[in-house]
Amino acid sequence: MSDCLFCKIISGDIPSYKVYEDDLVLAFLDIHPVNPGHTLVIPKEHASDIHENSIDVARALMDVAHKISPLIAKAVGAPAHNLTFNCGAASGQAVFHTHLHIIPRFEDDGHRMWQGRKDAGDLLGISEAIKRQF
Ligand code: 5GP
Ligand code: ZN
Repeated sequence: MSDCLFCKIISGDIPSYKVYEDDLVLAFLDIHPVNPGHTLVIPKEHASDIHENSIDVARALMDVAHKISPLIAKAVGAPAHNLTFNCGAASGQAVFHTHLHIIPRFEDDGHRMWQGRKDAGDLLGISEAIKRQF
């Protein structure tokens, strides 16, 4: 897509530090890393998020993430990592080309996960509502 930032990274019109590439998938370093080694894994097929990609492309992306995540963590000496998709603006998605964040994590790196609510709410009702969607 001509006005998509990540499509321009794929085409090379915008430079990036690529760490992995194959026919379907590209991985490159995030320009504003949460921690050293923060990598974005993207499909070469443009879609706004993973749910708009074909399942074959989604699988290809996860194959790459499964392979490279521990290697990225090892390269920067991280004992752990987060794998995160932001899907939709309310989730924090800012670039609307599918991407998976690989974020190396360190003990006491100061980054906190989202906070769980003390009140779990209607777990039974919510679980039933979800299952009715299938
Ligand atoms: P989102 O919030 O959409 O899940 O994450 C988008 C990510 O893309 C952010 O972490 C941001 O730092 C990264 N990003 C935005 N523009 C560029 C760019 O031009 N180059 C690279 N390498 N990363 C970018
Ligand atoms: Zn794109």
